[in-house]
Amino acid sequence: MAKWVVEDRKVKHVYWPSDAMKKRAWISDESFYREGQKDPVKFWEKRASEALDWKKKWKHAYQQGKKPWQFKWFVGAEINACYNALDRHIKAGSGDREAIVWVPEPTDDKPKTYTYKMLYDEVNRLASAMKKLGVRKGDRVSIYLPMIPEVVISMLATSRLGAIHSVCFSAFSGESLRDRVDDANSKLIITADGYYRRGKPLDLKKNADIGASAPSVKHVIVVKRTRLDVAWNKKKDLWYHELLKKADKYCEPTFVESNEKLFLLYTSGTTGKPKGIVHDTGGYLTQAYWTTKLDFDLHDSDLFWCTADVGWVTGHTYGCYGPLLLGARMLMFEGAPDYPDPGRWWKIVADHKVTVFYTAPTAIRMFIKFGDQWPEKYDLSTLRILGTVGEPIDVEAWMWYFRKIGGGRCPVIDTWWQTETGGTLINSLPGVGPFIPTVSGRMFPGTHHILLDEDGDEVKMGQGGYLAQVPPFAPGMLRGVYRNEKKYIDTYWSRFPGYYDTSDGAVMREYETIRVTGRVDDTMKVAGHRLSTAELENAINKHKLVRESAVVPKPHEIKGEVPVAFVLLKGQAKASDALKQEIVKHVDKMIGPTARPGEIYFVEDVPKTRSGKIMRRILRGLLKNDKDLGNLTTLMNPECVEVLKKIVGYKA
Ligand code: ATP
Ligand code: MG
Repeated sequence: MAKWVVEDRKVKHVYWPSDAMKKRAWISDESFYREGQKDPVKFWEKRASEALDWKKKWKHAYQQGKKPWQFKWFVGAEINACYNALDRHIKAGSGDREAIVWVPEPTDDKPKTYTYKMLYDEVNRLASAMKKLGVRKGDRVSIYLPMIPEVVISMLATSRLGAIHSVCFSAFSGESLRDRVDDANSKLIITADGYYRRGKPLDLKKNADIGASAPSVKHVIVVKRTRLDVAWNKKKDLWYHELLKKADKYCEPTFVESNEKLFLLYTSGTTGKPKGIVHDTGGYLTQAYWTTKLDFDLHDSDLFWCTADVGWVTGHTYGCYGPLLLGARMLMFEGAPDYPDPGRWWKIVADHKVTVFYTAPTAIRMFIKFGDQWPEKYDLSTLRILGTVGEPIDVEAWMWYFRKIGGGRCPVIDTWWQTETGGTLINSLPGVGPFIPTVSGRMFPGTHHILLDEDGDEVKMGQGGYLAQVPPFAPGMLRGVYRNEKKYIDTYWSRFPGYYDTSDGAVMREYETIRVTGRVDDTMKVAGHRLSTAELENAINKHKLVRESAVVPKPHEIKGEVPVAFVLLKGQAKASDALKQEIVKHVDKMIGPTARPGEIYFVEDVPKTRSGKIMRRILRGLLKNDKDLGNLTTLMNPECVEVLKKIVGYKA
């Protein structure tokens, strides 16, 4: 059996919460962890009662069927997501609290603030209008909207009716939308005439029309955002503002059994064709509430900015449901991070006094490239907590984020989770810690993961293994792949019977922390040793002239596989053979000669998904001269594939 090679280093930087952080944090000791360990079902049962308003209580908090994937939370309970996000705050007299601070992209447009009451009024009208159009409990509604408040309003109006939303990222093509609409059999699409991107209004309606050509679609509701002159289909299309004007002011929420579907969401597609992940209602909301509250230690005085697009699960849980369930204040930004200049995000933080900021390593690396002068121009002292999600973060990026953005004050909460898990599962809590670069941290209270070797035996501390979840499964976990049970079972429940297989590799580290090293598919076997790409990339990125890297295996006659590195250099660095040698030596020193790259390519760009993740499977395909490079529809930068073909001498 191949032994996983992990960088055998003493953890150099370990940070613990300050006294001030401990004092204000919701959780600053072990009690929650102990309670969760003792009896996870009781733990979550208590949390669900505290967090949410249920119309009817559950008969069973957790039910495990014969097969591991047949589990249910809060069986028999009745709940409505929208009621919990809005109505109950109004009833409690908090209608005037700010819910969303929306920042449009054009700098001469004014930001707009929605209070909970304003959101409530608009959601009720939209839900009434949708009901008149025939949307009922269990129907699917596709939402294809940019980062404007109407995207959150549409999600909530859908869940108010007990219907199921399926959000499609607005930068995806009309064909991608159509695939998702077809798969979900959606009755209705909610879209916009367009949106602003880098100063230009873009026509979204023309893409939406491709989606609307699916036979299941009866109506298309169109939000007016840009006043572009868009094509109009009199039979299907309806203006959002006109519908709302005529709509009833109140729409009764439809309470559903807790295990009914709240939404479908397709994964990023890093490893292949996106999967339609199914989430339930009560379990998902419970995890959304508690992870938002505790991971980001949200209080009334906070302004939380999760930069993820609502098209991703991060936007669902931390840009919509989580903060709204808590009655918190959140910021939403319409545009590109570097428009009109690379200081835009930091200007927003300073102008609006953002206190909690959550983004992705890919964005952090982009800002490192732009240079320190941009964050230095603005007062970022209101920030208290920083978060990251989406990929393993390398030490360089972590330290830059911690020092340049957080001023060395703010804990960096590295949240490991997946579209499938609905909410975060592995990360340290701000008042507990520890915060260690590249290490996500501890398991969220009430949840349990283990690391297994290929035979399904648990590996020891400091060794690498497959990351798997142990039952009782966390309440936010997926309940299926939409209309594809086989794929659901094959993907998540086959490798290790009885456990949920995350498909990620990880290492157990000191202080009960877990370091996620990336997808198992991305690991390689070199001369009988298992190496993870994250491990190698982390080492390469530590070289002072390297900005970013992507490592993939290439077949090798003797060793089985050798790592090949695609390296993006910092602005001032010049590519040369000497530099290649230097990087090889650097890897030798950091990890050892086993990990030595067989080849290094200096490149300008590597293929990435639209959520900014490196698509290693395409690089692998290029090296193996695969005829079929697989699905490229979710790529952000397909043009770089042609350039790379020349660089690696691709022949197929
Ligand atoms: P697909 O499943 O279609 O290939 P995807 O896995 O990229 O797409 P997501 O659900 O958006 O889709 O991403 C989850 C994955 O992202 C995790 O399984 C893990 O590989 C990676 N990831 C997320 N957060 C972290 C983190 N904090 N540290 C390391 N890896 C992370
Ligand atoms: Mg995945």
